[in-house]
Amino acid sequence: MSRFFSKKYESLVPYTPGEQPKGRTFIKLNTNESPFPPSPKAQEGAKREVELLQLYPDPTCSALVNKMAQVLGVKSENVLMGNGSDEVLNFAFMAFCDKEHPAAFADITYGFYSVFAELNGIAYLEIPLNEDFTLPVEEFCKISHTLFIANPNAPTGLAISLSDIERILSSNPDRVVVIDEAYVDFGGQSAVSLIDKYENLLVTGTFSKSRSMAGARLGYGVANAALIGDLHTLRNSTNPYNINRMTMAAGIGVLEDEEYTKENCKKIIATRARTAKELEKLGFEVIPSLTNFLFAKKEGLSGMAFYKSLREKGVLVRHFETPRLKDYNRITVGSDEEMDAFLQATREILKEKEERA
Ligand code: PMP
Repeated sequence: MSRFFSKKYESLVPYTPGEQPKGRTFIKLNTNESPFPPSPKAQEGAKREVELLQLYPDPTCSALVNKMAQVLGVKSENVLMGNGSDEVLNFAFMAFCDKEHPAAFADITYGFYSVFAELNGIAYLEIPLNEDFTLPVEEFCKISHTLFIANPNAPTGLAISLSDIERILSSNPDRVVVIDEAYVDFGGQSAVSLIDKYENLLVTGTFSKSRSMAGARLGYGVANAALIGDLHTLRNSTNPYNINRMTMAAGIGVLEDEEYTKENCKKIIATRARTAKELEKLGFEVIPSLTNFLFAKKEGLSGMAFYKSLREKGVLVRHFETPRLKDYNRITVGSDEEMDAFLQATREILKEKEERA
């Protein structure tokens, strides 16, 4: 740390993204990316814009906002596009929390929430998930904080129902409730249909998972026009050009190709079911997932040891060495070939362990 670094950030611990390996080729099942390339329409759009990079992008992002609104079945005034949903989430912490209005989220959830809170000097409460990692809906109904709920949750893969979300929204009418739907396309139920009914609902989503565009950095927020207006104030006060030309065109392209996204989600869901079944046959406990990842553990096999052995065999998964999660690993659902390689590596690891015993 330099002697010039502001005291207010002295104790900030940045978010640690999943490893992006260099040098060696891994089967990469550690950051919940899609195994499929972006839609050809997205690729064409991005290529077209390369020739125009001397020009700033449209700061209102209107062509993409309009297309997104159409796909979601809402009005354009209900949509804000962000540089990844991370940016939208950060804007939500800035906009809807402060010293008097702390944040609250589950103790086991997306690791960036606490970092955004710290970054913005916001106090936060972590509400413990139940023993089985389900969300204690009653606890969330009791507190009047600005709430952040990943639904489905990460890294567990579990979701709550829309009726539970409605209970939380109506029990907390004076604070914003953010529903982070990064993984909703893999079997979850979206709360977007509720934005007209609940003034305090903000839904966020991403193009990084089901739409195969993690590298383009594109996400969105959906809410009533007043909440979206607040987020625009922050966007226009930090970076009005937050969506670059190539990403904007690629985003429109993939939204014109919803069939492609739906097909890919179907494939991931089928591969997820097959992989979970195979893991269970090998003695793993697999949490039923509504996302593009599996959260699994096996008795007698430490989470860290499994993670390290897989890495040695060229398979990367995500491990969290925290008290409640250390037995588990989060395994992204890749292509069938990738999951076969992961399962083969797992079988070898179990066999080697048996031979050593
Ligand atoms: N929310 C959750 C629950 C996530 O897991 C992620 C991705 N790691 C994000 C939001 C952010 O995604 P992005 O910024 O790529 O849109």
